[in-house]
Amino acid sequence: MPSEFEIIGRYFSRPAPGALLGVGDDAALVRPAAGCELAVSTDLLLEGRHFAAGAAPRALGHKALAVNLSDMAAMGATPRWATLALALPAADEGWLEAFAAGFYALAARYQVDLVGGDTTRGPLTLGVTILGEVPAGRALRRDGARPEDDVWVSGELGGAAFALEHPEDAAAAKRLHEPEPRVALGERLRGLASAAIDLSDGFAQDLGHVLERSGVAAAVRYADLPKFRIADPALERRCVLAGGDDYELAFCAPPAARARIEALALPLGLALSRVGSIRAGTPRLQLVDAQGRAMDIAPGYDHFA
Ligand code: ADP
Ligand code: MG
Repeated sequence: MPSEFEIIGRYFSRPAPGALLGVGDDAALVRPAAGCELAVSTDLLLEGRHFAAGAAPRALGHKALAVNLSDMAAMGATPRWATLALALPAADEGWLEAFAAGFYALAARYQVDLVGGDTTRGPLTLGVTILGEVPAGRALRRDGARPEDDVWVSGELGGAAFALEHPEDAAAAKRLHEPEPRVALGERLRGLASAAIDLSDGFAQDLGHVLERSGVAAAVRYADLPKFRIADPALERRCVLAGGDDYELAFCAPPAARARIEALALPLGLALSRVGSIRAGTPRLQLVDAQGRAMDIAPGYDHFA
């Protein structure tokens, strides 16, 4: 079995051309571009909590990084550097090879460098910290939504949650196991969106965070939400409103930005749906059906609920 240092050397020491110093010293050295702020975020994936025992290692490598890239997208930041904290029950070389391949394939697509980490024996745990750059003062925060803003959603909702109940559905499984972070959208929304969040715990709950931080209410038309095809209406509602793991962006923008936002969909190859609007008032999401009637909203994912 390889040692800790052989694991790092063999699987996690590829060159980091975008860093001053990568893996191998006590810390990495990075320099953000002049005029940029650093956006920093961490996401942890645990076996048995975020993924099932025996999950495919290549997809895990992809997803461990993808969920962090998604946080950069939600901030309008350009991801640059990542660190990887890894607890492994055993040094399984086939597993490590596939995991590293999935991680580095996604990293290469976004020109993100793995610049450090930590490796230890323990229950399978994947922790990534991501650093990105955003022009000073232009990050997309949760607290910027204002009355009259439109509410928008990228892609489709509900596919990842649907996959938990229908693992045989290949399109849904891809949504769950290999989410595509909306990095290019986040970058293009700088200067257009007033607020943004990535949808990791369910649309209703995550948009609720924007409403809380912004001190506003929202009215959303269920019929206008972009949906993964789910035949059973009750299951569709549950997956679309409360299903986690979609990693789409929900964002707010003034009506004056509509045409410029719509014009992003084609070059990005990504549907952008206008689903409702922000209202003055106490933070609350009001959801209406096609007949204009108020709908109940199931809670989203909460690790401690
Ligand atoms: P330290 O004793 O200072 O914590 P380590 O011996 O744990 O250093 O790590 C040696 C080098 O390898 C460091 O540069 C560290 O950032 C890097 N490293 C350790 N584990 C990983 C990993 N899973 N992925 C990437 N780099 C790693
Ligand atoms: Mg260490």
